[in-house]
Amino acid sequence: MTTSTQYQCGNCGWRGIEAEMHRIDDIHDRVSTGELMAAGECPSCGDLISVADEDVPDYTLQIVAKIMRKRGWLVTPAETEAAETGTLRVRIEADLERLRQVSQEPVLIRYGDQVQVEIRPKTDDDRVTVVHGSLGFVVANYQDDGVAIDVADGEGDIVQTMTATEF
Ligand SMILES: [Zn+2]
Repeated sequence: MTTSTQYQCGNCGWRGIEAEMHRIDDIHDRVSTGELMAAGECPSCGDLISVADEDVPDYTLQIVAKIMRKRGWLVTPAETEAAETGTLRVRIEADLERLRQVSQEPVLIRYGDQVQVEIRPKTDDDRVTVVHGSLGFVVANYQDDGVAIDVADGEGDIVQTMTATEF
């Protein structure tokens, strides 16, 4: 945030810099989750003034939460956590997409101490295999007309197959 950024009140048209705006004391009563982009209160009419678009970093809500806390605003941990979850999800999805594009063979990704998830090349199908270190694995196959689940034992032998077909 630069101190020279110009803000404008959407209600009365007041223009000025951040230091001239009043702090929002009752922010929780006036701004709900999802619209936390208020920068301050208009010194002229008391309306909330939004953070200038160019001042909102491209990255994530988490960063915004950090900035807000620096300014003395209360951002509940729950919101921060949710924002981080969202950030991680977006990042992992992007990594998965890339991994599927560049890999020629399925790659095992650790999910838990004993459990791995197989990530298949993009050119392959979207089947998902979940592997346990000793107990066996499960394969979810998605076809045009339904789903098939293969269950294998620790030896790798398919012991059961279930199908659900769309009629
Ligand atoms: Zn105003």
